[in-house]
Amino acid sequence: MKSLCGLTASEISELAECDERHALAIANWLYKRKSDDLMLVKGLSRKAKEKLMETSCPGIYDPVSSLRSADGTVKFLFSNEDGKEFETVLMSNPKRTTVCVSSQSGCRMGCPFCATGHYGFRGDLSVRDILNQVLGPGIDGKVTHVVFMGMGEPMDNLDNVLKACDIMTAEWGMAISPRNITVSTVGITPGVRKFLDSCECNLALSLFSPFPEERLKSVPAEGKYPAREILEVMKSARTGKKRRMSVAYIMIRDMNDTRGHLEGLKELLRDTGIRVNLLPYHSVPGDGNVSSPMETMNHFKHELVISGISASIRKSAGADIFAACGLLASGLK
Ligand code: SF4
Repeated sequence: MKSLCGLTASEISELAECDERHALAIANWLYKRKSDDLMLVKGLSRKAKEKLMETSCPGIYDPVSSLRSADGTVKFLFSNEDGKEFETVLMSNPKRTTVCVSSQSGCRMGCPFCATGHYGFRGDLSVRDILNQVLGPGIDGKVTHVVFMGMGEPMDNLDNVLKACDIMTAEWGMAISPRNITVSTVGITPGVRKFLDSCECNLALSLFSPFPEERLKSVPAEGKYPAREILEVMKSARTGKKRRMSVAYIMIRDMNDTRGHLEGLKELLRDTGIRVNLLPYHSVPGDGNVSSPMETMNHFKHELVISGISASIRKSAGADIFAACGLLASGLK
């Protein structure tokens, strides 16, 4: 039985052997109403619905478990049809509902300060798996923002990530603005180029250090795809686009929060139009490092802003349930 979740409207039309109008009705029902009862699709005859049910199912599945943080953040554990596990984080406030999705089960990038890196690579997630994290049970109401900052390196599963973004942003799909979708990467140059050419969503580069030799120790991808090269690609893709390009800078005390790092960041990002998101560090289990104090983070922000570089500090969410940045997969075997 073929899952409808993960298919574009034209693929649904082909599968269901129906015209475009009916395919759009099915896609709308699936991606906007999040219903898993095919008999409820509006604008389709009973006969057509029964025919559709002979060959297809909605393909939305439940999380295996969930954990709620004291700050309201919820972490879901999913297991796909291949038994690969992955986590999703839901953050809500009165203004927005953000889902932090995974693109892979585990990750093969091996960044030492990330629990997912320690977990290792278990497999790519399908388009269905990625979309299910936004549609899935437990996520009530309209999702306004999606960030690909969960488990995995999106550029390492790019075709599925791009198709998922396509369905999330399509009018017949989830109709989420591409300005509200951010894909985070450690930087794989060919993937970044293809991503920027293929969609309008935002891109965030995980930097860690402005200095190549130091970055290499924390982000092994630096060896093959230097951050400076990725930033050049990001800069050249900006023209005429409204999307947001940013750098995520996780701050570790006495490691990457010195005066020299601040000057290095300014030198790297001045006049690029790329903004900086400063993030507190969350220690992976067994690691003795701690986050830079808020005072240091505020100082970085202030100095960057007065140098003409947009900067903000991202609030930590869900640290008590290992849902914060860099902690996903902490509890998985
Ligand atoms: S930081 Fe991102 S790319 Fe690096 S190991 Fe973790 S999930 Fe993978």
